[in-house]
Amino acid sequence: MIDGAERQIRKTKMKQGRTEKTACDYKPACLRTLYDLKLEPDLNCVCCRDICPDSRIDQAVVPSGTVPDTKNLSMGGDDMKYSAAAVDLLFPPKCVFCNRLLPAGRGEPVCDCCETNLPVIKPEQRMVFGESYLYCLTPFHYEVPLSDSFLRYKFQGREGYAAAYGRWLRSCLAEEKVVPPDLITWAPLSSLRRWSRGYDQARLLAMEAAKLYDMTPKPLLKKVRHTRRQSALLPQQRKKNAKNAYALLPGAQVQGKRILLVDDVITTGATLEECSRVLTQAGAGEIICLTLARGHGGSL
Ligand SMILES: [Zn+2]
Repeated sequence: MIDGAERQIRKTKMKQGRTEKTACDYKPACLRTLYDLKLEPDLNCVCCRDICPDSRIDQAVVPSGTVPDTKNLSMGGDDMKYSAAAVDLLFPPKCVFCNRLLPAGRGEPVCDCCETNLPVIKPEQRMVFGESYLYCLTPFHYEVPLSDSFLRYKFQGREGYAAAYGRWLRSCLAEEKVVPPDLITWAPLSSLRRWSRGYDQARLLAMEAAKLYDMTPKPLLKKVRHTRRQSALLPQQRKKNAKNAYALLPGAQVQGKRILLVDDVITTGATLEECSRVLTQAGAGEIICLTLARGHGGSL
């Protein structure tokens, strides 16, 4: 494995004229190379090479929000349309929040009941202010039915839910008249956790939010220390847990940039504070945060 990977690196360097060795962590083989050769995580992967990890992930996000694992879809155009219809037939669309079957032909992945009972944060309470970031916008309280839906999204492989959540993320940004940022990024999972989960839930949310501005999120941060799950800790423990857990990705250009930083849930704000601190120390101009939900485990 290592010999093969090293041969691949030499071939790639010759082909691309690059001197740095990097690998992504989107596939087990890439992740093994990353660890075995002690490389830096980066999208210019010596394993994937010409296959862009971003495009592979984009294909995995199917809008219905109710489709089971589709990571390896490689169809396009009419093939994809027929495939989506077949999937709807085999797996009838369900409300992403309460998981009940939706009536045939309903365009939205949410039922009437949930639509009117979602724990939406009042517009005047959406914005909370941080120390390292300017403010954080959040459309939902972390309460049922959003919380049940979110647990399926995060821990039960329902990555397609991101497409449904995107509607509220974009509305939140649009209603608050957030001007297009220079860069959009997310608070990343550790390589190990993303490997075991198969996707990074904050990254998928960032991709959905970025559609408002017709932008593509850029990886700017990496998690350099495996931390305990924040939700398992008391509010006073979370800041210590997040401390020095993130670093700037090699080559990330953030000097003077206005950055939209996306995460899934904000509770104490410890993760966003730490990510923002790293970006600010690297010269970022202004950081605005966006999360899907706000928990009640403490104050900012
Ligand atoms: Zn529902």
